[in-house]
Amino acid sequence: MSPSGAEVIRQIKSQIDEVDPSEVDGAASNGNGSRPVLIDVRESEEWDAGHIPGAKHVPRGYLESRIEGAVPDRSQRVVLYCASGNRSALAAHTLQELMGYENVESMTGGITLWKDRGYDVEVPQSLSKEQRERYSRHLLVPEIGLEGQTKLLQAKVLLLGAGGLGSPTALYLAAAGVGTLGIVDDDEVDLSNLQRQVIHTTEGIGTPKVDSAERAIAAINPDVDVVKYQTRLDATNVMEIIDGYDVIVDGVDNFPTRYLLNDATVRLDIPVVSASILGFDGQLSVFKPHDGPCYRCLYPVPPPAELAPSCGANGVLGVLPGTMGLLQATEVVKLVTGAGEPLVGRLLLYEALGATFTELKVRRDPECPVCSKDPSEISDEEMGVFPDYEAFCAAAG
Ligand SMILES: [Zn+2]
Repeated sequence: MSPSGAEVIRQIKSQIDEVDPSEVDGAASNGNGSRPVLIDVRESEEWDAGHIPGAKHVPRGYLESRIEGAVPDRSQRVVLYCASGNRSALAAHTLQELMGYENVESMTGGITLWKDRGYDVEVPQSLSKEQRERYSRHLLVPEIGLEGQTKLLQAKVLLLGAGGLGSPTALYLAAAGVGTLGIVDDDEVDLSNLQRQVIHTTEGIGTPKVDSAERAIAAINPDVDVVKYQTRLDATNVMEIIDGYDVIVDGVDNFPTRYLLNDATVRLDIPVVSASILGFDGQLSVFKPHDGPCYRCLYPVPPPAELAPSCGANGVLGVLPGTMGLLQATEVVKLVTGAGEPLVGRLLLYEALGATFTELKVRRDPECPVCSKDPSEISDEEMGVFPDYEAFCAAAG
């Protein structure tokens, strides 16, 4: 007579080593190099509902095909767990008897007993079926994956301006699933904007840019909350508007606002991804307070007024803000997910006619009037100090 399922499990458990959750918890926290690799052999839905922090996920159905990816060294100590300790016992038997793993154990009682004992459980924010599909190309790159996508969905990014730079940035950040996009812009859509401000349409002419941008974003991705500020950023509202955002995308076209923004973000410790464009030239940098230079370290005094784009209408190649805006969007995704090396302490110059990129190192100025100070010492009076702007532009002739 064939043995019952329960009998098989009893037999197999007698042939493998079992370990109590208390020992697994102790081994995980002692950090002395003998830490076992913890493998969760349950199904994906069970894993998503909560797992032991630091564990790797190898469902039992994929055990033979994926275990070597998770544990290449067969002499490594491996502890398997499931819900109650049965599936992990069967999996341990397979690894030990069929695959030559020398040091395999199954955790008794599974994650159920682990939880009952009050040990830590990590619950990943789960994505809906639709989100898994929408962000599947992110989930496939290890540098982003579920963790990075979750960070993007929880991120709050503020865009200063829904113009040439803000348009492509907003479209791609919305598509990437940045959960909250704040947009500051007091302007209305004008026919002359449409050569480069791709978030707006001919139909939207005459309507506020924040509304036009909101419509486009909603059409791309319903996961994104748009927060609209139909106003100009100034000393009276800057702290209130930017507080609580994780990253700020600076697409403003005037120096006084840049100085003001710099001083406020240094005070609140918010990184700024900054770009500017003129003609066929673009530049880009990331100002991460106290980690790299700030805008005032780079430009201790305002550049000559004739270079100030906002002093008058200047020409620009329509696709250039697209290029620079998407480089900004890339830096935002990197800052939010922690992937790669952000453009901190580096200034990237792009010259479209010659198709050249040049990178300059920029250093923190130890004498910087803003970022050399303790943030709490930056007073309201010192913020955004800038020469009279009308006079500044008038001097440009
Ligand atoms: Zn500085």
